[in-house]
Amino acid sequence: MRTEKKCPHCQVWTKWEKQPTDCCTSCGGLLDEIALVEKTEREEKDRVFRENDFFRVRDDDNFLMVFVRKTGWVLHAIFAAIAWAFLWFVTTFSG
Ligand SMILES: [Zn+2]
Repeated sequence: MRTEKKCPHCQVWTKWEKQPTDCCTSCGGLLDEIALVEKTEREEKDRVFRENDFFRVRDDDNFLMVFVRKTGWVLHAIFAAIAWAFLWFVTTFSG
């Protein structure tokens, strides 16, 4: 299906693929600047989040770091399970 959108810069109707990177065919301006900004921000947040994730094994990790990260992940999972069980216990038997 062919979609058209009015360019916010030159007010000319232009072809629109509904992609954040689509540009106006007559003036070359971005058709949806807000969407592109949001997309870039989301990707940046994603990237930072992944880089800060201690348990993610990185390509340049040596054998020891891989071991530490994997053990840490297991401990983290066990801790989360205990916390969850504790919460369940408290909420179930307190009232
Ligand atoms: Zn335009």
